[in-house]
Amino acid sequence: ERVGYALVGLGHLTLEELLPAFGECKKSKPVALVSGSPEKLQKVAKQYGIKPESCYSYENYDKLKDNPDVQVIYIVLPNSMHAEYTIRGAQAGKHILCEKPMANSVAECEAMIEACKKAGRKLMIAYRIQYQPHNRMVRKMMQANQFGKPKLIEAFNTQSSANPRHWRHKKDLAGGGALPDIGLYCLNTCRFVLGTEPIEVSGYTYSTPGNPLFSEVEELCSWQMRFPDGIVVNCATDYNAHDSRLYRVMAERGWIHLDQAFAYEGQQLKTSRADGMTERTEQITLGSKNQFATEIDHFSECILNNKDPYTPGEEGLQDQRIMEAIYQSAREGRPVKLPTINQRDAFR
Ligand code: NAD
Repeated sequence: ERVGYALVGLGHLTLEELLPAFGECKKSKPVALVSGSPEKLQKVAKQYGIKPESCYSYENYDKLKDNPDVQVIYIVLPNSMHAEYTIRGAQAGKHILCEKPMANSVAECEAMIEACKKAGRKLMIAYRIQYQPHNRMVRKMMQANQFGKPKLIEAFNTQSSANPRHWRHKKDLAGGGALPDIGLYCLNTCRFVLGTEPIEVSGYTYSTPGNPLFSEVEELCSWQMRFPDGIVVNCATDYNAHDSRLYRVMAERGWIHLDQAFAYEGQQLKTSRADGMTERTEQITLGSKNQFATEIDHFSECILNNKDPYTPGEEGLQDQRIMEAIYQSAREGRPVKLPTINQRDAFR
């Protein structure tokens, strides 16, 4: 039995990664498409064997309600549209898988959680890294306390972008610049591997003056998160620097280093630990799995077995709270305290 998905937005992620990933899924299949372009709909539907009557526009999106093939709506739209399409989708009686970042504000995230709860539907945020084998292994190593207490994490996610007209460079559509788009991977993955929540953040943002890419959104964001027990996490992200996607956990008796940590593939995991008087460094090889397929099948399993997803709406809400605190700190030039929550106990 496979759970049927409607994909909303036929942009880069849907066409290049998600639709091909369904080919590797065991419990999920694409059964409907939503797009503003009739030509694209026709072409993509034909390619993936989707019925013409299961192709929708943004105008008749709510008609998905009457399509019994569709159990999940997967929102793959610009960030500012996530809240509206999640809420309308839940009201149409469907479970929702929503791309990261969950939305552009805490208020929107709360409204999305509320709408899904009210409709009795599940909500999952597509944090693919939490389904990626190397990153999961790092979390397991941390849980097993293999290197002693963690002290510091450094995480970086940088890439360069070129098109100032793209929605990612418009504040209204993107919500922010490098932070919510790619810096979010540093933020979310560090919370994931530590398994605790930050209590205070300090942030700094910068945009090269005169660069049209960054007239509305930040180019760089550098921030520090302070976790319980004095653990410090230093992160930085930049939209105008050559690709690098990595983190390193420094613990009492060793370190864990993950290169290509946030990439679609090619993760390289290395550890080092004190072994008597010597240092033992290990390169760990894991079989590669399509992380999008693993993530989508996880949600299908939750639906088939009536379980809560591993990365529910509350996970996206918490990241949004932290991002708002980072921006506040950057504006005000001082650290910002976060409300104490023990969220991980609540939903893990
Ligand atoms: P994209 O620009 O390639 O695609 C967006 C789609 O939305 C396009 O088909 C576009 O036509 C459509 N659209 C509808 N209304 C629009 C409007 N008003 N303005 C602009 N486009 C509009 O973007 P993408 O890279 O596919 O990103 C889509 C979502 O997926 C974003 O939320 C992004 O953060 C997320 N994403 C996640 C990952 C991941 O690894 N999980 C990777 C890339 C993108």
